[in-house]
Amino acid sequence: MEKPKAIVVLTGAGISAESGIKTFRASDGLWENHPVEEVATPEGFERNPQLVYEFYNQRRQHLLTKDVKPNAAHTALAKFEHEFSGSFLLVTQNIDNLHERAGSNNPLHMHGELLKMRCLNSQMVFDIRENFDYDTKCQCCRSPGNLRPNVVWFGEMPFHMHQINNALEACDLFVAIGTSGNVYPASGFSQTARNRRAHTVELNLEATGSSFDSHLYGAATKVIPNYFKQILDS
Ligand code: NAD
Repeated sequence: MEKPKAIVVLTGAGISAESGIKTFRASDGLWENHPVEEVATPEGFERNPQLVYEFYNQRRQHLLTKDVKPNAAHTALAKFEHEFSGSFLLVTQNIDNLHERAGSNNPLHMHGELLKMRCLNSQMVFDIRENFDYDTKCQCCRSPGNLRPNVVWFGEMPFHMHQINNALEACDLFVAIGTSGNVYPASGFSQTARNRRAHTVELNLEATGSSFDSHLYGAATKVIPNYFKQILDS
């Protein structure tokens, strides 16, 4: 292949599956046994905030256990970013921090981060490693009831869209890794890149039915290191 000059990589839950974090749609629209409407919508939070706080507290505590570590796919992407001389943007739908822990520089978390919470009054964002809930007093307004996970729920606008769209319009290679293509707007990124004549590639465990110029199937820890090494060697 001709060596690309500007690459956008989008990752989804599949890249973290071999690190022990469950994917989302794999079990019929359930996320860790909960219907997504319960735990990943503003309406679900309004109906049952305690359930939603507990859900993200559990995900956060699981992420922080010593068994959950970046895998060979996260590491290969970080290494590639450091060695590639062209432009490179890593966008992730994941709310875990495994890209950062593998050494990636500033991945854009379009769906937010488990290790951050936000004040609903001031919109200020704070780092958080402990559990928090309705009773937790916010650091800025010192009141309970104002904090929520800084994750993007269905029906909410993802973060960093301006920067992501600019990069998609300027890239000559777009690679989607471990994403089912069910969640909008990330599912439309390959079309945006294609419209600008970028080559688009899907790297996934199995076929998703999404439209890309080429597809490579297999576990992320096997496929990603080889694929990105080939680009460096091209
Ligand atoms: P998804 O769960 O809908 O799809 C995961 C995809 O990864 C599937 O197509 C599956 O075939 C593939 N996959 C599974 N194991 C793989 C492996 N070992 N190697 C390569 N591919 C593999 O994921 P999505 O498209 O990212 O959408 C999920 C949404 O849920 C996101 O918005 C995200 O915010 C949230 N979520 C995040 C995490 C996380 O942070 N790790 C985990 C679950 C869900």
